[in-house]
Amino acid sequence: MTMMRRLEGKVAIVTASTQGIGFAIAERLGLEGASVVISSRKQSNVDEAAKKIREKGIEVMGVVCHVSNPQHRKNLVDITVEKYRKIDIIVSNAAVNPTTDSILHSKESVLDKLWEVNVKSSILLLQDAAQYLSNASSVILISSISGYNPQPTLAMYGVTKTAIFGLTKALAMEMGPETRVNCIAPGIVPTNFADFLTKTKEIRKSIEEKTILNRLGSVSDIAAASAFLASDDASYITGETLVVAGGMPSKL
Ligand code: NAP
Repeated sequence: MTMMRRLEGKVAIVTASTQGIGFAIAERLGLEGASVVISSRKQSNVDEAAKKIREKGIEVMGVVCHVSNPQHRKNLVDITVEKYRKIDIIVSNAAVNPTTDSILHSKESVLDKLWEVNVKSSILLLQDAAQYLSNASSVILISSISGYNPQPTLAMYGVTKTAIFGLTKALAMEMGPETRVNCIAPGIVPTNFADFLTKTKEIRKSIEEKTILNRLGSVSDIAAASAFLASDDASYITGETLVVAGGMPSKL
């Protein structure tokens, strides 16, 4: 496939980007011409992922960043700006799902962790980065189809993803017109994160049947949507959520 080069000269930070959806997004933004800064908690994962991306001819830098660590977030922004002098694109992709307990049986520490990683860290990263965002910049928050309809085994996780829809609207108003803020709600995509759903044949089949397109999503489906929202092709789109879920039930 010939890749469009819509992001030539842009600088992109992608959190939680050493595997899965985040990695695919970083790679796609890079293939479209952006310099990409990848990150995750483990140095070895960062090094390995940066190497894979560099081998594709992409300008890439890797920084360790556990998104709930204030110093790590600051480093991520500072090191990016030191090297590239600006930030054009931020994809906030990190999330955890530490429990399958119901909401009423979730420990307070688990509720705190879900809020901290899935919602608060995006806000705090943007607080650090806002002053360096260029005049035509784009922020993309990764939510989930489960934000529309939190399922019993993912209930509180789903609620944090619902919060991302509201955060998208609120930040779009706060950060416009210079910065567009949009959200992607992926359907179910086979990654380590979704193993517990996609590795069991019966569950996998039941998810496929909930889609109109009769298949699970792929990381490149989500990456393609991210590249679109980051690019000038989406220059009149802000405050929106793009559902990339093969037609799974979401909103009207
Ligand atoms: P994944 O394949 O399991 O990848 C997780 C990535 O996040 C790894 O690179 C991991 O690297 C990093 N990471 C984990 N915790 C982190 C933290 N606290 N700070 C920074 N990096 C962290 O996950 P995924 O499926 O791609 O999920 C990515 C996003 O898509 C999440 O927001 C998830 O909610 C959303 N999503 C996924 C699906 C799906 O079906 N897969 C569906 C809807 C939405 P280290 O271990 O080195 O930190």
